Amino acid sequence: MKFCTVINCMDGRIQLPVIQYLQTYFKAEFVDSITEAGPIAGLAQGGADPRTDGILKKLRVSADLHRSLGLAVVAHYDCAGNPVEKEVQLEQLKASIKFLREVGPNLEIIGLWVDADHRVHKMY
Ligand SMILES: [Zn+2]
Repeated sequence: MKFCTVINCMDGRIQLPVIQYLQTYFKAEFVDSITEAGPIAGLAQGGADPRTDGILKKLRVSADLHRSLGLAVVAHYDCAGNPVEKEVQLEQLKASIKFLREVGPNLEIIGLWVDADHRVHKMY
């Protein structure tokens, strides 16, 4: 069984588009989902955010036990958990990826943006 991993917002509108995108991108059958409300707001601050530890623990389970093929971090339009401009979100997304490359498992990491029409765009 082939897995990949996503750190996604809990927003129900974006779950299926992101899963379908990642099944194709990483050629994986299953997408392990780690969800928070606007996770990039915390991850951009690295270890300073109280949610980071839990995210990293789940990420290790997916990487080590499921031998995940890759990781995506997601930002999206109209995020209730992280209500800031797209430009700010993209900076947070970039910072989140940088942090995860430093402390996370050795996986390919990509950054996705989901737009108002639920289309998925690879930004990083
Ligand atoms: Zn959101």
